[in-house]
Amino acid sequence: MRTIDTIYINGRFLQPHGKEEAPLFNPATEEQIGTVRLGNEQDVDDAVRAAKAAFASLSKSSKAERIAMLQSLHEAVAARVSDLTDAMREEYGAPAPFIGFSVPHAATSFLQMAKTLETYEFRRRIGHAEIEMRPAGVAAAITPWNSNYGFICNKLATAIAAGTTMVIKPSEMSAIQTQLLTECLHAAGLPNGIFNIVNGYGHVVGAALSAHRDIAKISFTGSTATGQAILQAASATLKRVTLELGGKSPNIILDDADLDVVIPQVLGAGFANSGQACIAGTRILAPESRLAEIHDKLGKAVAALKVGDAIDPTVSIGPMVSRKQWERVQSYIRLGQEEGARLIVGGEGRPEGLDRGWFARPTVFSGVSNDMRIAREEIFGPVLCVIPYRDDAHALEIANDTVYGLQAYIFSADIDRAKRMADRIDAGRVVINGAPHEPAAPFGGFKQSGIGREFGVYGLESFLEPRAVLS
Ligand code: NAD
Repeated sequence: MRTIDTIYINGRFLQPHGKEEAPLFNPATEEQIGTVRLGNEQDVDDAVRAAKAAFASLSKSSKAERIAMLQSLHEAVAARVSDLTDAMREEYGAPAPFIGFSVPHAATSFLQMAKTLETYEFRRRIGHAEIEMRPAGVAAAITPWNSNYGFICNKLATAIAAGTTMVIKPSEMSAIQTQLLTECLHAAGLPNGIFNIVNGYGHVVGAALSAHRDIAKISFTGSTATGQAILQAASATLKRVTLELGGKSPNIILDDADLDVVIPQVLGAGFANSGQACIAGTRILAPESRLAEIHDKLGKAVAALKVGDAIDPTVSIGPMVSRKQWERVQSYIRLGQEEGARLIVGGEGRPEGLDRGWFARPTVFSGVSNDMRIAREEIFGPVLCVIPYRDDAHALEIANDTVYGLQAYIFSADIDRAKRMADRIDAGRVVINGAPHEPAAPFGGFKQSGIGREFGVYGLESFLEPRAVLS
């Protein structure tokens, strides 16, 4: 049992003023593995004060100084990849392929931002105006549990590159991972107050940050409902707000696709991070002409997937993060059947042979129409819908008929045809034939998937205010 009873303010690990505690679990065993003591509004005030004091010098620092800080942070996180991996597996249960991407990605996000910074021009000229890109002011980051390290590191890297200090409120469910990551960030030896980390509930610490008069900018990743609450709270002080929210991404198989190649990739996108991914391709759009073949191949491929404790490297689907999340997934599997969809594979309950742990059965529904709730709402678990379409125009109509617009996937033997379709999809990213992540390209959503973009220059500028001096 671990006891996490400190938060991190002004370069020191301190006991929070808050007295409330929350339990921490291993989702693969349902055993309690620790407790975290949570911060309160007073802790937020202390953290913001420290960040505000440090802002005075960081905002005036040179590019070279910021790049050196980013390099130190990279080295400090990279030095403990193995410990970070173990903690993520134990507290979150992510399977090996996701952890294998996520932990190194978190460490390299500092180097990626250093690279962006090297060529970024903070001062430019437009006509007779001198333009300066100035740090917007002290920032807050509020992050979810489904990739704790990645979100914290990327937001912190971007803030530092912009010359902005930060107060970070991670998910209260990820406190063991946060503790370890904080130890790494502390070891980088940055000046005090540049980053401050306060564990706490969203409605306490998150809400206090969203309304705080000395916070100028909020970078949030999480659910659309929480994003709306933050936007509302932030409006009183007109904070700059970046929101990275939910999705219901179309996963489009064109009729010329080689299904033996494509089906594993379609499932990789759909079941990414055990289905607990904002970018999961949960709506499989299948051509009517090949529907039977696609159903058959999906059924066989899903039945062969291994679900279990991520300690086993051959597992591709781990547990849901909490009992609540497991129950939510079960309720959607029930709902799909009530709505008239048919199960190709999966269903309610735990997978065979697993009698404990918050494991859900990887489930694929057929006979889904795009107006069913299982096709419209984000489930955040390993539950996919197959929606048939007549032709490319019909596929596009279904793909765009959603309140979300985070990511889309297209699979085709004809890259030009796939690109023509990509041009007509309303989503922040379109991935053709399983193309790899591009860390400097913008990431973020259309419509209710968010506001603003992260990564590269687009992310950097979301922490900056343009200013013109005319002479
Ligand atoms: P969540 O919205 O419940 O919580 C996210 C964070 O917000 C947590 O730290 C939480 O404590 C805090 N929070 C909760 N209520 C708050 C409030 N009233 N004010 C301020 N902060 C508050 O989301 P979650 O369940 O942790 O994560 C899953 C969601 O995140 C999914 O909807 C998923 O799609 C989304 N997500 C989006 C992206 C993206 O980049 N677009 C990435 C990952 C996850």
